[in-house]
Amino acid sequence: MARGTLFVMTGASGVGKGTIRAQVMGYLHRSLHYSISMTTRAPRPGEKNGQDYYFVSKEEFEARIARNGFLEYAEFVGNYYGTPREPVEEALNKGLDVLLEIEVQGALQVAKQAPDAVMIFIVPPSLSELKHRLLLRGTESLEKIEKRLAQARREMEAAHNFHYVVVNDELGSAVNDFMAIIRAERLRYPRM
Ligand code: 5GP
Repeated sequence: MARGTLFVMTGASGVGKGTIRAQVMGYLHRSLHYSISMTTRAPRPGEKNGQDYYFVSKEEFEARIARNGFLEYAEFVGNYYGTPREPVEEALNKGLDVLLEIEVQGALQVAKQAPDAVMIFIVPPSLSELKHRLLLRGTESLEKIEKRLAQARREMEAAHNFHYVVVNDELGSAVNDFMAIIRAERLRYPRM
């Protein structure tokens, strides 16, 4: 059986990755496996363990790093975030396509390890729009928002490492663009 394709969605915090991902998964949940990340950050109101993230302690996270249990991981604004390796490998081996939604440093690690991965960079129409969205979301303090914005500025410089860039100006078009990329990749010949 052909191995599945690994799709990696990345971009700045607040750019709308999570919203695009949720809609794409709504359409493609039968054929696309979403990889649930592990993090040491505290759950936000409404977030569920095992659904949004696996919320773990720093000790648990570091023990998994030590046994090479992550496909990639990164420290992002004071917390660890990582992709548990096994479920991804299992799905790909079963021929399922897999979607990761991760920050840029982790995405660059995946690109190095898995050259066949399809790398998709989501960008905001502008940085001031990104700030506006982070403020509107209201989940972070102003200080943390400034840190996330500074990170976003640095990350924009990494865009040339990716195969596709999707501008999230209007959500519906960004979702359509994302789905078009998945469709096109699935039609590629030969598919390895
Ligand atoms: P948040 O705290 O807003 O949920 O996530 C912060 C950032 O971490 C987002 O850009 C999100 O995409 C990223 N992230 C979530 N899961 C992972 C992961 O498994 N690995 C990496 N490298 N980043 C992740």
